[in-house]
Amino acid sequence: MRDTAKHQGLRNQLVTSLKEKGITDEKVLTAIKKIPRHLFLDSSFEAHAYQDKAFPIAAAQTISQPYTVAFQSEVLTIKEGDKVLEIGTGSGYQTAVLLELKAIVYTIERQHELFKKTSLFLPKLGYKPKKFVFGDGYKGLPKDAPYDKIIVTAGAPYVPKPLLSQLKVGGKMLIPIGGDTQIMTLFVRKSSNEFEKHELGNFIFVPMLEKKA
Ligand code: SAH
Repeated sequence: MRDTAKHQGLRNQLVTSLKEKGITDEKVLTAIKKIPRHLFLDSSFEAHAYQDKAFPIAAAQTISQPYTVAFQSEVLTIKEGDKVLEIGTGSGYQTAVLLELKAIVYTIERQHELFKKTSLFLPKLGYKPKKFVFGDGYKGLPKDAPYDKIIVTAGAPYVPKPLLSQLKVGGKMLIPIGGDTQIMTLFVRKSSNEFEKHELGNFIFVPMLEKKA
């Protein structure tokens, strides 16, 4: 597992391009500058790791585009000590960004192969979520609820009710909703039964699927 000056140079360029695309949160940009994204990809894609693109990972899934990861992290205004539930661990790249932002992270993945691979890999880089869960994100993780923030990194055909109910009052949930393309949607919990909803543009994710695989 090597991280070289060349990789660092490519990361600096990536950060410049993310700024040009409108990302301003310095803590998010610093996290992206630091995390060796090439190590999260299969070695055949390593050369492309610092392009602002999504790439295939195991189990027919993708590592999200850096812009998307930066955008979701920025919108959620993650603060040190925030309790964050992540749906769709995937490669663990978004998880690493959340951990660099000093969140306490609970992350769920439904694909066993990815769950196994990433739960072994991330700690080797020093990234330690509070919990790796093999499970169905539609159900959330009621045992450890409520959460300050919930981030969904797969396209959901509808808003899963259990996730809204596991959000703290004052908390934020960010979820892409739709079919082939999704609308990034932010919910802010105003009280036990009131949510504010903001639509933040179109994105494309792999689908959020029901049940473990
Ligand atoms: N944040 C990840 C994104 C991976 S793609 C990364 O940057 O690498 C989305 C992930 O969500 C896939 O790994 C997919 O298996 C997972 N997923 C889809 N539906 C899910 C569900 N219901 N519960 C948990 N994970 C789910």
